[in-house]
Amino acid sequence: MTLSNPFDFTGKVALVTGGTRGIGKELTTTLAQHGAQVFFCGTNQELGNQVEESINANLPQGGSPTTFYQVDVSDFKACNDMVTSIVKEAGQVDFLINNAGITRDNLLMRLKESDWDDVMAVNLKGCFNCSKAVIRSMIKKRYGRIISLSSVIGLMGNSGQANYAAAKAGIIGFGRSIAREVASRNITSNMIAPGYIETEMTEAMDEKAQDKIREIIPVNRLGTVEDVCNATLFLLSPMADYITGQVIQVDGGMLIA
Ligand code: NAP
Repeated sequence: MTLSNPFDFTGKVALVTGGTRGIGKELTTTLAQHGAQVFFCGTNQELGNQVEESINANLPQGGSPTTFYQVDVSDFKACNDMVTSIVKEAGQVDFLINNAGITRDNLLMRLKESDWDDVMAVNLKGCFNCSKAVIRSMIKKRYGRIISLSSVIGLMGNSGQANYAAAKAGIIGFGRSIAREVASRNITSNMIAPGYIETEMTEAMDEKAQDKIREIIPVNRLGTVEDVCNATLFLLSPMADYITGQVIQVDGGMLIA
């Protein structure tokens, strides 16, 4: 038996939303290093250009260049135009990683209508916009892997995050539904639910708050972007071909149900 490398993604085309920072940047970089042709989006053009340049300066031999699109995932038409352009250039989208996300935290008493609408538009509608845009070409190719970033907050709720928790729980219902719709076409849809991961999103917390969090994580540390990336690579690899509609928690045991 010959063992092939399940993490060699040469010939695969990936779209990562929110690839300019944090988890999405790590995913974009790692997928490019594993041979995929990667497209990523974000709203910050300058940051997108920087990330694109730095990835392309370190591509593996024969690797395909990575391309940034300045696209707001809450914009239905912009997502559709982006995917049309990618399919025209690369022929297909094999992997979609719905990663773009924002927080607008506040207690319900103080939560503004715009805080609710913004989080729903980016975190939840963004998943719908991009998944809808890629699904036709995936069905045509009889292949696709969709991974959407939920959160443990979507499973357990959190004081001050009603909008974020609702959007992240919504992603699970959405992702499980499309998993059922397209499973027969060799397309899987899974969710990753990270716990507390060290990124700009969590850096905003002071030391005391971070210590408190460590206390509730059995492995006694915050997660890293690599931890999330590793689970994503597994779900994209042929090793996970029979896994769909699942939520993989990457949370150091924070929420063991
Ligand atoms: P981050 O560091 O704040 O990065 C968020 C990314 O999303 C950025 O690249 C940002 O790019 C992009 N983005 C934001 N709004 C966008 C929009 N409207 N259209 C397109 N892109 C947009 O966040 P992160 O910590 O890496 O989190 C990534 C995902 O994991 C999110 O869905 C988050 O909810 C989830 N998550 C994170 C944690 C954690 O502890 N960090 C835990 C659980 C779940 P621009 O600024 O260029 O728009």
